[in-house]
Amino acid sequence: MTSAASPDLTPGRPLVFRNATVLTMDDAHHVHHGADVLIIGEHIAGVGPALAVPDGTAEIDATGGIVMPGMIDTHRHMWQTAMRGYGADWTLTQYFVWYYLQWGKVFRPEDIFAGNLLSAIEAVDAGVTTTVDWSHGLQTVAHADAAVDALAEVPGRFVLAYGNIQQGPWEWSTAPEFRDFVTRRFGSGNDMLGFQMAFDVTGLDPRLLSPDRRHRGHRVGVHGKRAERRPGLPAHLAAARARHSRLAVHGHQRVVER
Ligand SMILES: [Zn+2]
Repeated sequence: MTSAASPDLTPGRPLVFRNATVLTMDDAHHVHHGADVLIIGEHIAGVGPALAVPDGTAEIDATGGIVMPGMIDTHRHMWQTAMRGYGADWTLTQYFVWYYLQWGKVFRPEDIFAGNLLSAIEAVDAGVTTTVDWSHGLQTVAHADAAVDALAEVPGRFVLAYGNIQQGPWEWSTAPEFRDFVTRRFGSGNDMLGFQMAFDVTGLDPRLLSPDRRHRGHRVGVHGKRAERRPGLPAHLAAARARHSRLAVHGHQRVVER
């Protein structure tokens, strides 16, 4: 879909995609065929056929292509990407044994970095511009720093969902070095890098619901396929909701906000 001569994509220069199928994602889900999309600065300045553009606008021939908002992946284990082809025929139980019990604990920070970097590049390349990284291999803050370092290398929007399958969340989430990490890496309000806490539990353990509100202000996720349907969990969620201002149940099929 690119033109024969690469356009000059100097930052700040207006850019127009020509003759694309444009999925607007507006309320009526309008689709424009043979349409242009003009971008000036950080904003979409126009959508329509044969747009007039400012002098000096870079042009990309998007004939045959689709222009659409970036996709959002609400749940990906980015740290495991380097091993993604291994165990493709495993059952879920085999996966748990391998990662949770046998080998997950030997991942070094540089292994986390490699997985996250590869995953982030793949995501952006596939049109996924926002990814929630369910990062439950963060055994130490050094692992967590490596995860963030990798995400910062790639021009996409990411949310680090901090987790550690080698400990209960009531352990790692109360460590001073964890608190320091959050302040250090997420204190600046960078719109491209978000943060939440990833509680890898099959239900909401009472130890997560301590009255000191230690997680207040952070988005909290609970991991599990169809977790919202587990017996008793909705009641736990209701209780947790009173303490966590933003709680989500993550699954590999959907994310349910409560
Ligand atoms: Zn998951």
